[in-house]
Amino acid sequence: MPDMFPLRRFVSESAAADLLQQVRWRDGVECPRCRSDLTVRNGSYRVYQRYLCKNCGRTFNDKTDTIFAHSKLKLKEWYFTIYVFLRFNTSIRQIEAELNLSYRTVRLRVERFAKALDAPSITLSGPVEIDEVYVSAGKKGRERDRESRSRGLSTRGRGSYAGDKPPVFTLVDRGSDDRYVVPAKSADESTIRLLLENHDEESLTVYTDGFRAYEPLEEDDAFTRKYVVHGDGEYADGDIHVNTCESHASLTRRWLSPHRGVSKDKLTPYLRAFQLRRELYRKPGEEALKLALNAVL
Ligand SMILES: [Zn+2]
Repeated sequence: MPDMFPLRRFVSESAAADLLQQVRWRDGVECPRCRSDLTVRNGSYRVYQRYLCKNCGRTFNDKTDTIFAHSKLKLKEWYFTIYVFLRFNTSIRQIEAELNLSYRTVRLRVERFAKALDAPSITLSGPVEIDEVYVSAGKKGRERDRESRSRGLSTRGRGSYAGDKPPVFTLVDRGSDDRYVVPAKSADESTIRLLLENHDEESLTVYTDGFRAYEPLEEDDAFTRKYVVHGDGEYADGDIHVNTCESHASLTRRWLSPHRGVSKDKLTPYLRAFQLRRELYRKPGEEALKLALNAVL
């Protein structure tokens, strides 16, 4: 059962090290300093393989220059943390209890992992739904907007980044079925243009609601904007709706909910992790773990 819950990677440090080796050097070992592939095996550092670069003389091991280097956590603990965080939407408190580590240690590792994730590159085939919600995310992440209907995420709250209620855009590309959740400093025209910038179609069809920041798209040949006005009790007009955005936003809300402490400056890494979660969603355990590692190497 090699593809199921990758248990042995969480119990054996050398099995964990083997996996890192497999993923990191899948195209061959490369010196982290000079990028040369003229390397030879050179003993080991604990259970991690060590190498010597014959080009620049540097020695390094499987963990060198990765987020796992110089860490108090063992690799297997890192893997377990990353895995349950991504797959099971587990709170830091729960992981802390499972591993008997401090809250701070687990939180810092989760955040180091999430910060190492790249921004999703958005290329749209269209048609595209776009919508925004406002997330209550204070400096400490504990502030709540009393007016918001739902906890954490509310629609059309007229929030602002400065007011600790940054807008989060949801894009659904109906052409590719890709979804993106991107926090922004403000819900304005230039942000919207940036999000929709990369598209194949000459004129990208964009479905929105009646929010005014989308209006300038109508005067631009690069876009065909179609919209529904929620205030008028109109939620869908055939294909014209942002319902998929709304359901994706509610998944986002669920994703953030065990992490009540997420502050606005950490929203981006947490939402990148959510993006990765979706990419791993239907993958078997071992493969999901490999992809998660690959995303931060
Ligand atoms: Zn080198």
